[in-house]
Amino acid sequence: MMPGSFIPLVCIWATCGVYGLTGTHNIPPSLRNSQQTLFIHTLNTSDSCGRRRRVSSLGLWSSSLDDDLVQLPVDPVRGNYIRKVKDCVFSHVYPTPFTSDVRLIAVSEDVLENLLDLDISVADTKDFLQFVSGGKSLSGFPPLAHRYGGHQFGVWAGQLGDGRAHLVATYINRYGERWELQLKGSGKTPYSRTGDGRAVLRSSVREFLCSEAMHYLGIPTSRAASLVVSDDAVWRDQFYNGNVKKERGAVVLRVAKSWFRIGSLEILTNSGEFHLLRELLDFIIEQHFPAIIQTDPNRVLVFFNTVVSQTADMIARWMSVGFAHGVCNTDNFSLLSITIDYGPFGFMENYDAGYVPNTSDDQGRYGIGNQANAGMYNLNKLLVALKPLMDNRQKQIASHILAGFPDLYYQRFTELFRAKLGFVGAREEDLMLIVSFLNMMEDTKADFTMSFRQLSEITDHQLKSPSIPEELWALHEIGRRKDFPAWVTAYLQRLRRNPDDSEAKRRQRMKTTNPRYILRNWMAESAVRKAEMNDFSEVHLLQKILQRPFQVQKMADLAGYSQRPPKWSKDLKVSCSS
Ligand code: AMP
Ligand code: MG
Repeated sequence: MMPGSFIPLVCIWATCGVYGLTGTHNIPPSLRNSQQTLFIHTLNTSDSCGRRRRVSSLGLWSSSLDDDLVQLPVDPVRGNYIRKVKDCVFSHVYPTPFTSDVRLIAVSEDVLENLLDLDISVADTKDFLQFVSGGKSLSGFPPLAHRYGGHQFGVWAGQLGDGRAHLVATYINRYGERWELQLKGSGKTPYSRTGDGRAVLRSSVREFLCSEAMHYLGIPTSRAASLVVSDDAVWRDQFYNGNVKKERGAVVLRVAKSWFRIGSLEILTNSGEFHLLRELLDFIIEQHFPAIIQTDPNRVLVFFNTVVSQTADMIARWMSVGFAHGVCNTDNFSLLSITIDYGPFGFMENYDAGYVPNTSDDQGRYGIGNQANAGMYNLNKLLVALKPLMDNRQKQIASHILAGFPDLYYQRFTELFRAKLGFVGAREEDLMLIVSFLNMMEDTKADFTMSFRQLSEITDHQLKSPSIPEELWALHEIGRRKDFPAWVTAYLQRLRRNPDDSEAKRRQRMKTTNPRYILRNWMAESAVRKAEMNDFSEVHLLQKILQRPFQVQKMADLAGYSQRPPKWSKDLKVSCSS
């Protein structure tokens, strides 16, 4: 039952080759990042048991910002003009307010309330709108743009940096989690190069929806707190064909534990700033890798090892939901191995290991089946960046660690796909069953998401019947394959080997692993088209539906989100233009 032709498929998938909103900004800096800050905070925002309450005033909230990042060197040059920056990690630069009215389109209640301790009512305030659109900053936290570099499409691109993003706050929430808030699309910085510092509505809607959707799919990702649109004109040649069009500027408030990327370290090594490289790495380890002991002489190695395994995990998870990032450059790969910088991403529909979401990626460098290779390439660049901090023995060990990436990735990939098929524990035949299922999917051009989902929904009895019911449309297509019944027999036999399992348990388990709703390109496109006409209803609908991607939702089914993609969606394209 295991034709040799299945092997290359596994290989493709699994080998690697200012203003103070309240008066608290007058607090001397020595009191800010200290116990006293907490005291001030406690005074205003705790209940009688000392638990932190949510606040509905941004001013009050801004009194408890954390300013640890500013320990890192900041560019002494303050002007907002494009330049090559040296010997620092950040530049102080304020967002550029829009000149037209701004409108709040959407917020994430979960991000505001559970990550940032803000009451959702804050979103109704003028302060909030001004803050999240880059109109006003919190005086306790002068905004920062980060200096980083990167390898783009295999070539060292030199200084890149936050060319249209501003880090506008860092906050430690009631669970002790540290969150960095960043505006994207908020104006030029010293890193803008030839760009205008803006982001358009379509790409901002996509980032807002997708980063939240990924979170609810259980994939490590940055989050999106809010989305605003302005009437300021932003000119874009969407498909690089000379057709420049007027679009509208929008801003997403993005939230992550850290925005440091592989490129954050690369630029320091590349420009010989080894002292700063060590300082930044120590800072990142101290803040984000608490398991690593600062005095451990091998801490750089342990750090590298952690990033390697977490990156393998992140990419395997992307694959498990058919997500293609689109631009896997080193400047878009987080050191915390979370998905960041959503651009021309896409969720694969019909199964195709060569799926490339980004129409600007002519060579298919970042095709879905090549993401693990891209990850390995990026980790190698991280290793190069870290080498000045390692002795020869450590460099050798690091090379071994990197060489272990394909195995780590492959293991994670297999674990995730085992779970997708409902297997408990590991058995020899699992890989063959996974690969054969994917192979049949590829041959029949069946939908990746719905094939797995419908396999979760179908009963054993239906599965054994000569033809799969038509309403299970993706599986129905696979079911027409001659070798499908043999696969089903082997599959059901394997399921029977699950310890302490039943059909009901199996279906239940698989339904929490295989999503029914993902952000398909056509869904995002439809929401964008309406948003461009000031109808944000579909943005809201998608935001709501994608918070529960594993649960059957009537509204979603009525909207066609679990149906075959509409014909018009076949010609949709996404480019790097954003
Ligand atoms: P991205 O493709 O969004 O990951 O961006 C790559 C680099 O280009 C980063 O340094 C961005 O900050 C910068 N960039 C992208 N778009 C713009 C823009 N419209 N204005 C200024 N910088 C930009
Ligand atoms: Mg980027």
